[in-house]
Amino acid sequence: HVDQALYKAKQFGRNNYQFCSHNVKLDKAEAFVSFEDNVQRAIRNNEFYLVYQPKFNLSTKRVEAAEALIRWAHPTKGLVVPNDFIARAEENDLIIPITQWVLEQVGKQIKEWQVAGFKDIPISVNISPNHFEKGTLVEDVLTMIEKTGINPKSLIIEMTERTMVHDVEKTIETIKQLKEIGLKMAIDDFGTGYSSLSYLMKLQVDILKLDKSFVQELTDQKNASLVHSIVSLAHHLNLCVVAEGIETEDQYNILKQYGCDSGQGYFFSKPLMSDQLERVFLSKI
Ligand code: C2E
Ligand code: MG
Ligand code: MG
Ligand code: MG
Repeated sequence: HVDQALYKAKQFGRNNYQFCSHNVKLDKAEAFVSFEDNVQRAIRNNEFYLVYQPKFNLSTKRVEAAEALIRWAHPTKGLVVPNDFIARAEENDLIIPITQWVLEQVGKQIKEWQVAGFKDIPISVNISPNHFEKGTLVEDVLTMIEKTGINPKSLIIEMTERTMVHDVEKTIETIKQLKEIGLKMAIDDFGTGYSSLSYLMKLQVDILKLDKSFVQELTDQKNASLVHSIVSLAHHLNLCVVAEGIETEDQYNILKQYGCDSGQGYFFSKPLMSDQLERVFLSKI
């Protein structure tokens, strides 16, 4: 299975990963219209699908949330991963219909899990900066909640630091509206962007997701101290800290010792198909 092969290669290093993903990479020379047609067709024909990566509480090791991650089963290119099409979709706002599709799927899935009687596990969705900027995000979220009737508390919006620097005032306002609906907000890939601590204090966010680059360098003493400080600081600001990309038991132990609240990564689980995640719900709760 391609997905599995990709993940294996990814774990063995960057070069292998690039080698494996090369043949599924979208041809950069493809004309804009063609990419747009591709995406429109993909939405119509259900070529996109979602995988879910569980997030675990570091003290209890129980699953407490999951992140929806998009995959594209392209008819001729095979599996296309988000790093090979999201940036391009952001350039021409195709990311908006894609995200509307993601929100709809996540809504249906949450509803299905609620009906089946699983414990309410919030699901997070990644939102691109231009979706905040275009101003349809609040409306799109409301439409989805109305259609599915899910509890807004079951939805987490992940935004990156890039969103804040785009248009601070608009971002603050949008977050305020999303919070009024009852959603939780997370800052994704924290530490990789240009945001400053002053932004962090201005935004009503609930969760800080520490980027995996920090987790991968915990053996470096300076970096480890920085991580420890970020966790303390976030707690002082009443934020929950989620570490991304935990791959080893050592990383898990250090982060737990630093008081980091939750974690996501191959050490716990790779992203899963929804029925596989159901099995995790059943086994860990
Ligand atoms: P992200 O939101 O930071 O998601 C985490 C990424 O790290 C995922 O890659 C996940 O599969 C990967 N990962 C999880 N555990 C580990 C680990 O232990 N080690 C390593 N090395 N990686 C790990 P993925 O699914 O390829 O997604 C890449 C990025 O694409 C995401 O980063 C997110 O920014 C974007 N993305 C994914 N789905 C969507 C979507 O539906 N909409 C938008 N706008 N962006 C998306
Ligand atoms: Mg994310
Ligand atoms: Mg992330
Ligand atoms: Mg990341």
